Order: sequence, then structure tokens, then C-alpha cells
Amino acid sequence: MKTVQVKDKTFSVSISEAEILRRVHEVAAQIDKDLAGERPLLLSVLNGSFMFASDLIRGIETPCEISFVRMASYSGTTSTGRVKQLLGLNEDIEGRTVVIVEDIIDSGLTMKELIAILQAKHPKEIRIAALLVKPGNLKVELDIPYCCFEIPNDFIVGYGLDYDGYGRNLRDIYTVVE
Ligand code: IMP
Ligand code: MG
Repeated sequence: MKTVQVKDKTFSVSISEAEILRRVHEVAAQIDKDLAGERPLLLSVLNGSFMFASDLIRGIETPCEISFVRMASYSGTTSTGRVKQLLGLNEDIEGRTVVIVEDIIDSGLTMKELIAILQAKHPKEIRIAALLVKPGNLKVELDIPYCCFEIPNDFIVGYGLDYDGYGRNLRDIYTVVE
């Protein structure tokens, strides 16, 4: 089996590049079908989704825009402590159809916060496109119309996803070997 070493861990291939691309193009075709004429704004959540976003947008034929955003944590002075903020959104999304492009949804908490921040800007609609979802870890209810792959709760790297900053350049998706 094809394995790679990333820092101190060994990973084995779990989804090949060919499988990823086939599925990403299926999802792009679904977005085309659902959002034809909507001129959607894709919001790619950095860093992990850059590769997925790049392949996804090349599969979409209906006119669309893309923007790159980042969720940042900072220690606020609220009672709850860590507060998330959205960086990099320069577009006015009021009345627009927004497609969030995310690498992986684990607990879903990041996505929930992002949606709350975007909803406050009154978009027409928000849809989630996620390369990977770990349904076994979801702690909140999320509607994910464009999910490429559901995976078990194991840690993965590759195709944009990292382990401690490394492994993003791998073409396939790899799962950690215990
Ligand atoms: P959530 O708020 O728990 O859904 O966190 C999602 C974020 O955690 C993703 O955007 C990733 O940055 C990171 N993450 C979760 N699982 C993995 C994984 O298996 N590999 C790499 N990053 C992961
Ligand atoms: Mg992410």
C-alpha cells in the first residue's frame, strides 16, 4: 500500500487523486444544475480548501465569482473566551447566493460560526460544499448539500489538508496509520 511519512506520523492512501477529481467534478455539475443563473459567490475557507476550490471552480460552467476567507480565533473579552472572526471578505453578499467551500467538516463548530457571521450580512442563501465530512464527529446540525466524501473519524492529510503545516502538497488523501 502507498504510504507517506509526514513529520512523525505514517499515512496510507485512502482516496486517490483520480477518485477525488471524479467526485469533485460530479459535485461541480450538481452546483451548475442547482445554481444556474444565480451567479453564486464561492467562499473558499483558507488554508485547507485551496486545492479543492481550484478543482471545483474549474468544473463549474455557470458564471460565478470566488473569494478567499479565513476564520481566525482571538481571545476576546466576552465570557465565552475565544471568539471567531472572519477575515478577508471584501464582497457585499447581501442578496447573493453564497457557496462556502470547506476542506473538512469535523465537529462542524467552525462552519456553524461562519454561517452565523455570514447570515448577519443577509445573503439570499448559503450552501455548503465540503470535500470531506466526518459524520461521526458532528456536534451540530448542518445541511451539507455538496459533500464529496463522508469519512470515518481518523485524521487525514493531503490535497490541501495538513498535519501541523505539512502534507498539503500530496495529490491523494491519506489516513494516519495507528
Ligand atoms: P471543526 O470545527 O471541528 O469542524 O473543524 C474543522 C477544521 O479542523 C478543518 O477546517 C480542519 O482545519 C481541521 N481538521 C479536522 N479534521 C482534520 C483532519 O483529519 N485533517 C486535517 N485537518 C482537520
Ligand atoms: Mg478548514
